[in-house]
Amino acid sequence: MQGEGPSAGRSCAFLRLGGCNLTCRWCDTPYTWDWQGVSDTGIAYRPVDELHVMSAAEVTERLLGFEVGLIVISGGEPLSQQSRVLPVVAELRDRGIAVEFETNGTVSPEDSLIATGARFNVSPKLSHSGVVEHRRIVPEVLVKFAAQPAAEFKFVCGEAADLEEVAALVDRFGLKDVWIMPRGQSAEEIGVSIRELADAVVARRWNLSTRLHVHAWGSERGF
Ligand code: SF4
Repeated sequence: MQGEGPSAGRSCAFLRLGGCNLTCRWCDTPYTWDWQGVSDTGIAYRPVDELHVMSAAEVTERLLGFEVGLIVISGGEPLSQQSRVLPVVAELRDRGIAVEFETNGTVSPEDSLIATGARFNVSPKLSHSGVVEHRRIVPEVLVKFAAQPAAEFKFVCGEAADLEEVAALVDRFGLKDVWIMPRGQSAEEIGVSIRELADAVVARRWNLSTRLHVHAWGSERGF
């Protein structure tokens, strides 16, 4: 199930790719890139456990096996592997299956990928990520995404003050279709954030998303 953003609640399958070019301090998928990190049970993440080399054909076959109408390609940062994943996306789109990328907005999408009709949920990171600005905000990439009808912009926010930072990016890059998503790894944390953010989001005519997967399963990993 897609848990957040414009397609929240839709039945889907996830393709989660390893590796990320950022290091957000609150990342909820550190097992895709943080080889110095440890799990809740104290076990260190190891590439040998977390990453599995697969051919494009094998990935496509596995995804088709889920028999769903939406595939979400996430990470890590999935656009870092966009040339390798392009044949997968092309095959899925040829079969009429919707494809969404979850991207941090720092890697430019190739025109060949855009031409497949895939959608992009672009989530630029704010200062609370702990990542220096020149790494998390790449102007030419955000300008390219802002020109795409198939792109929406989704910001993780914890408190109303974060919305000022979002507003500055929206103005600077002319971003449209803005979604605000609460930070939190538990239903309680998300509830607190939503109550703090909702009035200001409504006032700005932006969209507000919850995180359904956290409500349903907390921070538990799937398979
Ligand atoms: S960009 Fe996403 S995957 Fe990468 S560190 Fe930040 S939250 Fe994690």
